Amino acid sequence: MVVNVAVDGPAGAGKSTISRAAAKELGFIYVDTGALYRAVGVYALRNGIGTKDSENIEKALKNIVVELKFVGDVQHVFLNGEDVSTEIRTPEASMAASDVSAIPCVRAFLFDLQRDIAKKNNCLMDGRDIGTVVLPDAKIKIFLTASAEERAKRRYKELVEKGAKDTYEEVLADLEKRDYQDSRREIAPLKPAEDSVIVDTSDYNFDEAKNIIVNIIKERI
Ligand code: C5P
Repeated sequence: MVVNVAVDGPAGAGKSTISRAAAKELGFIYVDTGALYRAVGVYALRNGIGTKDSENIEKALKNIVVELKFVGDVQHVFLNGEDVSTEIRTPEASMAASDVSAIPCVRAFLFDLQRDIAKKNNCLMDGRDIGTVVLPDAKIKIFLTASAEERAKRRYKELVEKGAKDTYEEVLADLEKRDYQDSRREIAPLKPAEDSVIVDTSDYNFDEAKNIIVNIIKERI
């Protein structure tokens, strides 16, 4: 029996860094499902398709192949055979991902891919609807959150380190807009699963947060 851990939460709560490190410690694979929505968003941006234009996005899906491949324990996302793992990380791609992710056919398009990986692997899968929709039977569900200011501070630091020119205020506004969109959408909105453990990382450093997650998982497996 494989063990699946669902990690959901708002943008910038540290889901990816904390989940990646926790997965490594546990010998699980780490699956970042946001990368899938980002790849569809990047396809729309590249092809001049409005990211909220559901009709044309739906038509475009038949020209899109999104794949996840693991090189060692590092996930790479491929869009029509091209590794777009870096390109999907821009602020434009973040907003595009949030836009396309509210379109039901996009969610349906990416559903099986996520389920198939979970079926075959012990994994920590992070996203917005993993515990509620993608893996409702996951053995362990964690909802990782932090205050909007703390999340924006962390995301801003990451972007500055990569040489981006965004201001803290822009980063905070983007996060708040994405949270709003992600939690108000009709389909698979961001919300904690009823049986999830809620962990607020605002007052924890990285190691503390990671240890909390690892301990929650170890206690339940
Ligand atoms: O996690 P990340 O910030 O990379 O996700 C980008 C966007 O993709 C989110 O803002 C959200 O709209 C969407 N997403 C989603 N469901 C998931 C993962 C991500 O709707 N499981």
